[in-house]
Amino acid sequence: MEFPLEMHKASIIKKLELKPIDERLRAIKVAGNNTFMLSSRDVFLDMLTDSGTNATSNRQLAAMLTADEAYSGSESFFRLEAVLQKVFRKKFFLPAHQGRACEHILSRVLIKPGDIVPTNYHFTTTRAHIRLQGGDFLELFIDEAMKINSNHPFKGNIDIDKLKQAFKDHKGKIPFVRLEAGTNLIGGQPLSLENIRQTAELCRGHGVPLMMDASLLQDNLYFIKTREEAYKDKSILEICNEIADMIDIIYFSARKFGAARGGGICLSDERLAGQIRELIPLFEGFITYGGMSSMELEAIAVGAEETMDFDNISQGPRFIKFMVDELVKAGVPVVTPAGGLGVHLDARSFLPHVRPQEFQAASLASALYIISGIRGMERGTMAEDRNPDGAEHIANLELVRLAMPRRVFTISHLKFAIDRIIWLWQNKELIGGLKWHSEPKMLRFFFGELDTVSDWQERLVEKFEKEGYNTL
Ligand SMILES: *Cc1c(COP(=O)(O)O)cnc(C)c1O
Repeated sequence: MEFPLEMHKASIIKKLELKPIDERLRAIKVAGNNTFMLSSRDVFLDMLTDSGTNATSNRQLAAMLTADEAYSGSESFFRLEAVLQKVFRKKFFLPAHQGRACEHILSRVLIKPGDIVPTNYHFTTTRAHIRLQGGDFLELFIDEAMKINSNHPFKGNIDIDKLKQAFKDHKGKIPFVRLEAGTNLIGGQPLSLENIRQTAELCRGHGVPLMMDASLLQDNLYFIKTREEAYKDKSILEICNEIADMIDIIYFSARKFGAARGGGICLSDERLAGQIRELIPLFEGFITYGGMSSMELEAIAVGAEETMDFDNISQGPRFIKFMVDELVKAGVPVVTPAGGLGVHLDARSFLPHVRPQEFQAASLASALYIISGIRGMERGTMAEDRNPDGAEHIANLELVRLAMPRRVFTISHLKFAIDRIIWLWQNKELIGGLKWHSEPKMLRFFFGELDTVSDWQERLVEKFEKEGYNTL
């Protein structure tokens, strides 16, 4: 048998509850068919996100009890700063309360109206902050990135030829190039160290700083070691250092990187650090806590150290691969190769009979919740903004993301998820579409509410109960 083996054991557990299907049907309707709006008490396996939901280690918990809660000059801050200097090797560490807070501050300092930021792929909050300052993204992903099924080991790579062209086309308008490690919105797909090196060389040649969003770097480090021949014998710390040395500005969400909560910016440019330092107390908190409790500073410090341990960072990608392999065997459309972050169902192939304007991914996410109590996340058209002319902007990819918070689930949880997804796949023609009930202007996926276009959810429940599944 082939299966991933956990290199940890549970010492603190949280009891789960699987509510009966009629209660789940009611809950998703109250939530406007938006899984963000469900209460966690109604959820069995919470695969909404890996943000702030990764399991805490015993060493993190121990460190949290030693936290020095001081407004300024906290010991905990200096401990975290020292660890980050070991990992990212930058002179300055500027704390911010989470990833988007880093993006807010960096965009304020670096973006002018009309600026263009080349990137391998956008992230929702990053793009929103860049646009808020009058700039925009130029996405330079490789062609392979948009193929749902591929065996390209690094679908997250930036297209180097397109980047060369961008430097020509947008001369003087590029404040920095942004690489996102473990590209969130295209399925947690990594970029190669070789691709980072080529990008860094180009940036240096044009005198443009290179920025990395390192929120999902841990998975990317795992994939570099396991998929990039030249690095198979290097330690995770060596790989991380080699990457960091090529990047000018590194920021991260510690809700993911370091398995804690919080965030921060690491850089060596003294002038830029000075500009950022002025904004931190204004928006985040004093410069030695940045809106975080000292307990979180301690948790990030230990978490960042533990991220340099190959066993620790292997669990996520290996569990994801197990689930992807089983779904592929059953013919269910999923993004391949398996990436980090989570399993991504391809809702466009799953529900070809639902029109894209009727939110295929949101429809599938609501159906999966009803059938299993599993909460996934829509990553498709709902997460886009409308076109300037008011038309729906149909997303490049229409995915349901089942995030795999690290070290949280067991193989039997995954088997349950696989079983229910296969049942849905066999009954897919029963799943119908959704339409707006209440539509926010920005980041629509957070609060948007949708109605069903028919009574398809009731019919789905009827079939489920008729087939002798008990009401769970
Ligand atoms: C989660 C995430 C962010 C935002 O971080 P928050 O801590 O949720 O604000 C930014 N970039 C990427 C790639 C992410 O995955």
